[in-house]
Amino acid sequence: MPRKLVVGNWKMNGSLAANEALLGAIHAQLGAGSAAVSVAVAPPLVYVPQVSQWLAAHGSALALAVQDVSNQSVGAYTGDVAAVMAAEFGVTYAIVGHSERRKYQAEDDARIAQKAVAAQAAGLTAIVCLGETLEQRDAGAALQVVHAQLAAVLKHVDLDLTRLVVAYEPVWAIGTGRTATPEQAQEIHAAIRAQLRAQSPQAAEQTPLLYGGSMNAGNAAELLAQADIDGGLIGGAALKAPDFMAIVQAAE
Ligand code: PGA
Repeated sequence: MPRKLVVGNWKMNGSLAANEALLGAIHAQLGAGSAAVSVAVAPPLVYVPQVSQWLAAHGSALALAVQDVSNQSVGAYTGDVAAVMAAEFGVTYAIVGHSERRKYQAEDDARIAQKAVAAQAAGLTAIVCLGETLEQRDAGAALQVVHAQLAAVLKHVDLDLTRLVVAYEPVWAIGTGRTATPEQAQEIHAAIRAQLRAQSPQAAEQTPLLYGGSMNAGNAAELLAQADIDGGLIGGAALKAPDFMAIVQAAE
């Protein structure tokens, strides 16, 4: 069974002062860390140095993630940040393919696969996000959509299955307060696990599969009790330390 992982995706929220307060409150509860759960936060990129320094100064058990990385490693890509640059700041994870980037930045499966590989080449673990829209679910295509999104990443020859996390985030559940039921989430997670198993039986058992989409202190326990849900990618509830830490506790 993979080690549990809970990641707070701060999205485009925060300020120097707010970040410090949130980190302080998380650290006060997390202390030396949890034996059973890895915990990470993904601040907006410009705050990565701040968070990195804060974590080091406080000997924090929290890990650092970025919300996106470039698919390129260096050069004339205005506005992009390479994974190797993030790695210099002690970043452990790179989220790639979040549905908000697929939607607002027109990122497609091929680019997302390149980003996952670029993150891994820099020594990071790629957290690849997958998920269907409400229209796709209503059309009965959820399994098929998620399968195709994952296949696009798995077919990349340079993908390293030992540094991969998969996050299932149904688009209709993100920021909507509408969560997938534990059964709906488990059905997709089991299919993702089977797809990974077809590629590598060992890696499939080690790859953490996160659920994301309105996970909160109230619904985390029943989602995390599912056989193939190994943690969460948390948006809104990650901005309040008590809510975030309640989810971490539910994962323990
Ligand atoms: P949410 O976001 O928890 O606010 O729904 C999850 C995510 O988008 O990662």
